[in-house]
Amino acid sequence: MPPEKPQWTELYTEVVTGGLCTGCAGCIIACPHDVLDYDTSDGAYKPFHLDIDGSIDSCTHGEKGCTMCTRACPRFRMWETEIDEKRFGRERTDDEVFGQSLDIVLARATDPELAAAGQDGGFVSALLTFALENDHIDAALVSGLEGGGSWRAVPTMVRTRDEVLATAGSRYTYSANTLAYPDAIATGAERIALVGMGCQASAPGAMQARKAGKIARRLSLSIGLLCSKTFDDAIFEELFEAKYGIARHEIVKMNIKGVFQLWLTEDRYVEVPLKECHAWTREGCKSCPDFAAEHADISTGGIGSFSDWTLTIVRTEAGRELLDAMIAAGAVETRPGDDDPAGIALLRRLAGVSRKRWPATAVEAPRRLPA
Ligand SMILES: Cc1cc2nc3c(=O)[nH]c(=O)nc-3n(C[C@H](O)[C@H](O)[C@H](O)COP(=O)(O)OP(=O)(O)OC[C@H]3O[C@@H](n4cnc5c(N)ncnc54)[C@H](O)[C@@H]3O)c2cc1C
Ligand code: SF4
Ligand code: SF4
Repeated sequence: MPPEKPQWTELYTEVVTGGLCTGCAGCIIACPHDVLDYDTSDGAYKPFHLDIDGSIDSCTHGEKGCTMCTRACPRFRMWETEIDEKRFGRERTDDEVFGQSLDIVLARATDPELAAAGQDGGFVSALLTFALENDHIDAALVSGLEGGGSWRAVPTMVRTRDEVLATAGSRYTYSANTLAYPDAIATGAERIALVGMGCQASAPGAMQARKAGKIARRLSLSIGLLCSKTFDDAIFEELFEAKYGIARHEIVKMNIKGVFQLWLTEDRYVEVPLKECHAWTREGCKSCPDFAAEHADISTGGIGSFSDWTLTIVRTEAGRELLDAMIAAGAVETRPGDDDPAGIALLRRLAGVSRKRWPATAVEAPRRLPA
């Protein structure tokens, strides 16, 4: 028997139509033959194979030995174990429910503009600005907005503080930031930070674990966003507008803290119960086991008692060195994660809730919890 070379056919049947695909777009940007594209119609957020070559479930390059898409996929087969071993040198223990980490701190930007624009403490924006201005990275892949107050998320490449500032804050619809990778490559970038929820934050690790070529080296920094789910873009018209009379352009800021919080023009504020939003949960999130972006260099979230600080999980040595350099330069202030034991307890609980979503029919590792 020849050694198995899993390719698009296996990815399509086991992940895309097998209910595991998150829509992270890792396979699309890794494909060296450009035969994969991204379907955002009707809330699909899934890759598809172009029929210029092969068919929906077959790829002539795959049949000739190309395996790049399966090597890039952070949900293919033993993904969690493989990435853990590559990133941390070992598998997580069952007790490491929110993944492996070196430290947890609360952090916030000292630059008042970045702190104000950020969703929580503006830590991610401060990190990107610092890393760009101090030669740690050449570009970052983040989520911009379409403009005109539409709140439509657009994968965006940034290289300056102003661009970071313009793309700060959270949207709760999906933004496959990986798709901005070609824009970064077009500028000659070789060290690229990827910002994204766990599904995307695991993509660089998958590529590195399975030696997916240059892309694995170029995605040199992974910044994770804690995440339980994202919503289909239709939630704006079908719930916010239809039930609450809120048009997209009236929304100034949004957040999720037990309820969907909407800050509106003219100093108005509306809370939408999360149970009303569930019907718009994006399909790709329903079996996702990773609340805490477990394969990022640094993962960030807004849970806990301190709303203007970012809960910051430092996972890798590279993440720790970057945070230390930021502290030394005065780019962020920090306080110990132990200042908020309730926040850490909630992190653990929410990470456990997400792990239970991973199908029992798939590999066991991502579901494992303490006995
Ligand atoms: C969809 C989503 C769900 C989340 N759910 C939780 C949660 O349940 N609990 C929790 O504690 N934290 C959650 N977070 C993380 C939280 O909202 C903040 O992103 C995090 O605390 C960092 O805050 P900050 O002020 O440091 O980031 P900022 O300085 O505001 O930077 C945020 C970065 O995230 C990028 N971004 C924004 N929206 C998206 C998106 N949709 N997709 C990809 N990138 C994006 C921005 O472009 C920016 O680079 C979620 C974030 C998102 C995007
Ligand atoms: S999870 Fe990501 S890499 Fe895997 S098939 Fe889906 S979009 Fe592609
Ligand atoms: S729940 Fe969050 S991390 Fe998981 S697939 Fe959805 S967007 Fe990605």
